Amino acid sequence: MRKSHLIKPVLGNNYPVISHGKGIYLYDKDGKQYIDGSSGAITANIGHGVREIAEAMWNQAQHVSFIYRSQFTSDAAEQLAEKIAEYAPVDLNSVFFVNSGSEATETALKVAIQYFQEQGNMTKTKVISRWTSYHGITLGALSMSGHQLRRQRFTPLLEDFPAAPAPYCYQCPLKETYPGCGVKCADELETIIQSIGPDQIAAFIAEPVIGASGGAIAPPDEYFARIRAVCDKYDILFIADEVMTGMGRTGKMFAMEHWNVIPDIIALGKGMSAGYTPMAATIVSDRIMNVIEAGSKVVMSGHTFSANPQSAAVCLAVLDYMEKNKLQDNAEVTGQYLITQLQRLQWKYPLIGDIRGKGLLCGIELVRDPISREPFDLSTKVTDRLLSICFEKGLLVYPAVGGVTGFSGDSIIISPPLTVTKEQIADVIDILDQSLSDLT
Ligand code: PLP
Repeated sequence: MRKSHLIKPVLGNNYPVISHGKGIYLYDKDGKQYIDGSSGAITANIGHGVREIAEAMWNQAQHVSFIYRSQFTSDAAEQLAEKIAEYAPVDLNSVFFVNSGSEATETALKVAIQYFQEQGNMTKTKVISRWTSYHGITLGALSMSGHQLRRQRFTPLLEDFPAAPAPYCYQCPLKETYPGCGVKCADELETIIQSIGPDQIAAFIAEPVIGASGGAIAPPDEYFARIRAVCDKYDILFIADEVMTGMGRTGKMFAMEHWNVIPDIIALGKGMSAGYTPMAATIVSDRIMNVIEAGSKVVMSGHTFSANPQSAAVCLAVLDYMEKNKLQDNAEVTGQYLITQLQRLQWKYPLIGDIRGKGLLCGIELVRDPISREPFDLSTKVTDRLLSICFEKGLLVYPAVGGVTGFSGDSIIISPPLTVTKEQIADVIDILDQSLSDLT
């Protein structure tokens, strides 16, 4: 008999089959309920099974689902671009649609290089990122990522891009302490630029709040203003990777708004479609587009499914739903509540070293010793064990493990849909409490 099957993330694992979802809950075929405490991979921002989105899908499908972007445009894609540009800072007015966050950051990289090429500058081809970072799984995006676990198998294929230390104050890579450090990690960017030569560097890319590789690490308030100034000084573009943080997740439409710093390019994904369809985008500033328009007039990137009207209609409906239900505001309010509840757990369980985050993107770092902040050894698989206990008890949380060079970086992300209520957060905390108790 022929044996065919879906390739799953870990072969041999027994993945429950989900039958349906409603709000923050998912249900498997045996009727077990899961609280989606991580919105999947920080994606299902408006929750599951929203009727308005299903209706928007049906409405668009009745007209046309696919057109090829080199031949036509569509009302849905045009309206979505307009809508996203309205949310974005004033001079970020041009939107390029792709299908995943990796494609969005990789397009950002290509646009940055093209911007300099169009001006006759052919040497600015490197992008500086940070050691604690994740920008995607395709080779260009992975080249810009510091995530050790995800890089190691493909290192020979990756571009040797330079990396700066991240503003990871709890485990400072420079062994400094904030605020006495004077945010030295931002100054390090300048040192790296000077050592490589600004004529080699097209852009600096950063997640406003570090996600998969660190577990919701927000920088000190002055960090991004310093980064912006350094980029400007050396004519280097600043790319904000808002794939995880964008579209209201942190309580602002874009997380960079927390620090009033305006990037040149923004990468979006995940929450843009809230998981109802694969869709992502790269938002580009007028400064860059003016150069391309005066030059080749062609943004050299794109995919077959880019800007398909079916996905665009879904994203428009998602944004509409977010606005109507004021989900961005809810993320801010319930996010603060979630942090205070997590802090209560910290008193109870010494292995909780750090609680952090912005809005509904919260992280817990687990350590062997909360005083010295000594991390667990990778072999203890403490995050994996906590995750499976939570899963067993019907709570989904997201692992941020193995992203940091040199140690395990055992963190979990808690990021329920932006529709979550305080009562539902209390349920999340309850299960987490029981799970931590079982673990320790
Ligand atoms: N950038 C960031 C900040 C991410 O968190 C991710 C995914 O986790 C990506 C890029 C890649 O997105 P995707 O998995 O949709 O390709």
